[in-house]
Amino acid sequence: MRALCWVAAGELAVREVPDPELRNERDVIVRVRRSATSGADLPLLAGRNPLLRAGDVLGAEFLGEVVEVGPAVRRHRDGDRVVVGASIACGGCWYCRQGLHSCCDNGSADPASVDPGWEHSDAGCFGRPRAAGGFAGGHAEYVRVPYADVGAFRVPDAVDDDRALFAADAAPTGWLAAELGAVGPGDVVAIWGAGAVGQLTARAAVLRGAARVLVVDGYEERLRMAERHAGAEPLDYRRTDVAAELRDRSGGRGPDVCVVAVGAPPSERFGGPADRPDASREAVHACRKGGVVVLLGGSDGFVDAFPLGAVTDRRLTLRGAGRADLRDVPMLLDRMARGELRTEHLATHRLPLTHAPQGYALFRDRADGCVRAVFTP
Ligand SMILES: [Zn+2]
Repeated sequence: MRALCWVAAGELAVREVPDPELRNERDVIVRVRRSATSGADLPLLAGRNPLLRAGDVLGAEFLGEVVEVGPAVRRHRDGDRVVVGASIACGGCWYCRQGLHSCCDNGSADPASVDPGWEHSDAGCFGRPRAAGGFAGGHAEYVRVPYADVGAFRVPDAVDDDRALFAADAAPTGWLAAELGAVGPGDVVAIWGAGAVGQLTARAAVLRGAARVLVVDGYEERLRMAERHAGAEPLDYRRTDVAAELRDRSGGRGPDVCVVAVGAPPSERFGGPADRPDASREAVHACRKGGVVVLLGGSDGFVDAFPLGAVTDRRLTLRGAGRADLRDVPMLLDRMARGELRTEHLATHRLPLTHAPQGYALFRDRADGCVRAVFTP
């Protein structure tokens, strides 16, 4: 089959690779219908992960049709249209039983190499290097899906592929951010980053009853999308004093919840100087006393000069998440079916899988208003 492979730093290619096969009784094989780029792929593309090997198949967000079913799979049959959560989780360990699938003890096939400093492993993930389980991703014609009863979800007929695709990762991550922030009625929520996850965090905050949702970004098209599709107030950091605006629009206190959804900072991504103030620091400074700051993944580095004093003196709660759990996917698919949650506009570029390297170049450079590139095998 054909698949998008990592070749070397900055170099991707569509290659012929062996078809996946069932390896465990809880696996299914999915024929991919759509797959999307993800911000978490960008540091990998830049070659910053030493554990990537030439030929690794990328792609964490995908949707398709079940074509082979392992003997212990209960919830899926041949022909089911499914969206597959990015986290690979067993469903039975202590973390999975708490709904913390992204922390699963058994999802990664190579837990020892994940975090040698702390000896913790998080769940496996599709389209990531060995350190995240080494599972081939969804930018391919077929994918092996382990623990299919836990991580694959049948898509309701009322939800088309273009919408359901983002129930794999971007929508659950946005929902998780709003949940970690305990966003509720009347809250003022500020979100840094108007990419797919930032926009879906904004939408989740609106659905949970936030009074005002402000989105900070420097790309005009993305801000307009956040306004139109998520009901957010756009703040362009190139033209606005963000801190002053946030205070003004929150009764002088600062937002109740601040979410950082910028992915890896540009400096880290491309090895150059940051082209804007560090968003996490700005969020900590902006948040009201006693508020919650949620930091989403994308950065795997160490950050110094972090305003720790502001966290303690102002009684802030810091929460983090690298990837979403799986528990919210059915609820989000239901909201998609009811039309409360629309995501298809995020697929700004649609390309055949054979053009995936060009799609990634557009996505990386945010060229031509690209939010997500979606590939069809
Ligand atoms: Zn587990």
